Amino acid sequence: MAKKYDPCMHTAEHILNQTMDRLFACGRCFSAHVNPDKAKCDYHFGRDLTEAEAREVEARVNAVIAADLPVAAETMDRFEAQSRFSLERLPGEAAAELAAIRVIRIGDYDACPCIGEHATRTRALGTFRLTTHSHADGVLRLRFKLSKPA
Ligand SMILES: [Zn+2]
Repeated sequence: MAKKYDPCMHTAEHILNQTMDRLFACGRCFSAHVNPDKAKCDYHFGRDLTEAEAREVEARVNAVIAADLPVAAETMDRFEAQSRFSLERLPGEAAAELAAIRVIRIGDYDACPCIGEHATRTRALGTFRLTTHSHADGVLRLRFKLSKPA
């Protein structure tokens, strides 16, 4: 795993994606750059978010974190996984060759195929801040940070 990888930041990406899809039916981000101190996620989206929407997204992500949901991995037959999830964002070899797909569940809030490392419970993420949002060429870019619990 890369040195600059932060399981809490990456777990926040999962929660943000589920939250965006629930609120706007936009699907999960198609591109993400997640560093230990900050992250950006890009969505196919027709417009920018309003400030009220941005604060709503932030509040919902923080509610999931505060609920302290367990984060668990399960393996699923690839055919079942294909019928339930997009496998597009898995690395090529994982998507094309593996008989079993690893699915990460965050309580009953989110489930997503992923090979990354994650926090074990959501409360470890601390406080989620949606720092900026911008829109260009059909792409909504959200940036976020976490304030870890003391
Ligand atoms: Zn993941």
